[in-house]
Amino acid sequence: MKVHIYTYGCQMNENDTEIAKQLLLNGGFEVVDSEDEADIVILNTCAVRKKSEDKVYSHIGKLRKKGKKIGIMGCIADKEKENLFRRGVLFVIGTRAIAKIPEAVSNAKDGTKQIYLDDTLDEIDYHKVETRNSKHHAWITIIYGCDRFCTYCIVPYTRGREKSRPMESVLLEVGSLVEKGYKEFTFLGQNVDAYGKDLNDGTSLAKLLIEAAKIDGVKRLWFLTSYPTDFSLEIPQAMVENPKIARSIHLPVQHGSDRILRAMNRRYTRGEYIELINNIRNIVPDASISSDIIVGFPGETDEDFEATVELVKAIKFERLNLAIYSPREGTVAWKYFKDDVPYKTKVRRMSYLLNLQKMINRELNEAYRDKRVEVIVEAQAKNGLFYGRDIRNKIISFEGSHELIGKTVIVKVNKITAGPLYGTVEEVLG
Ligand code: SAM
Ligand code: SF4
Repeated sequence: MKVHIYTYGCQMNENDTEIAKQLLLNGGFEVVDSEDEADIVILNTCAVRKKSEDKVYSHIGKLRKKGKKIGIMGCIADKEKENLFRRGVLFVIGTRAIAKIPEAVSNAKDGTKQIYLDDTLDEIDYHKVETRNSKHHAWITIIYGCDRFCTYCIVPYTRGREKSRPMESVLLEVGSLVEKGYKEFTFLGQNVDAYGKDLNDGTSLAKLLIEAAKIDGVKRLWFLTSYPTDFSLEIPQAMVENPKIARSIHLPVQHGSDRILRAMNRRYTRGEYIELINNIRNIVPDASISSDIIVGFPGETDEDFEATVELVKAIKFERLNLAIYSPREGTVAWKYFKDDVPYKTKVRRMSYLLNLQKMINRELNEAYRDKRVEVIVEAQAKNGLFYGRDIRNKIISFEGSHELIGKTVIVKVNKITAGPLYGTVEEVLG
């Protein structure tokens, strides 16, 4: 039986797909790259915004027309459960039930509808997953779920409570990947700073980073996504002491107004967030800080929005993911707050912030002019140029060749834009 998995959404979904592919191969199934070749198509889905959910439903419609058998995994599986059968789906696999994928695919032969929502994560041999998208960089999910319950967010309802993987399991995975030539690792969690808290044995993200950096062959370590009140200053301290830990922190603020932050249940004030950034920058002055912001949250006035604008101007994030508020059924905001900001206003605010961020990026990128930076080469872009990142997560493009992928090179930056930087490779470090 030929199976294809199509991935929507976040890096955690990317990693779940990689694991699912390995489990399917272990079960004797063929995993194919194209949907048309497949007997069964599994969609690994995202439910964070209505738009992401709608995309999946229209994809299901197209697959039905092609006569494909359809399975659903990811956040929509946990959100919609049996409702998905009405859309012609054959099996539903919750975010924690991925170990059941081979069973579901095997049973799909006779057309029986199946649903798996139980936690089977402990059955997975993470260190044996070889079906990865990259040959030198690996996603490693270290904590599942989220306990924060921001009022707008569906994730705690779909991905469940926080559950950390034991540190030995993560280090075993890193070690076995290093043996296969992997050099860069990104530790993933919806709230990655909560890593270890549920284990009650002193495990923490900072400790994991320090231990993983001791493994020979590890070149760079990343982590995503941080939550302000769980973020520990031990992390920037570890960055100073350890050049393998990337100086990049993705620390979503979501809003600049205290009134809205409270309504979002973000558990910190604007002042506390700014203080945290100052503390990080006092330890690592060149730390690259990026963020997520939601515009048009219920009740957001011009004054509230202005508070976000002022915050963005004051902090000067290296990168900003902007999202228009999307009510998600079942969340507190959906139940109790009216989605009262007109769509036009939401779009206007979003494009205002987009332009502001562009100007900030242009200004921050000037610091790179004529600099020589150490870059790990990632891939070739559609425009033919190669690109990679420096330790601050800055993307730099240059002329190169396929042999450079995965190697560390010194690039001299010679062109600045608001987006990527351009340069010339001056040295190959290996
Ligand atoms: N855990 C991270 C955090 O604390 O921000 C990020 C995970 S969340 C799935 C990714 C981003 O989606 C959030 O940072 C938020 O900006 C956005 N998001 C979540 N729910 C949303 C909603 N209902 N409408 C618009 N954006 C939303
Ligand atoms: Fe969602 Fe908030 Fe958890 Fe992030 S911290 S996943 S935004 S509930």
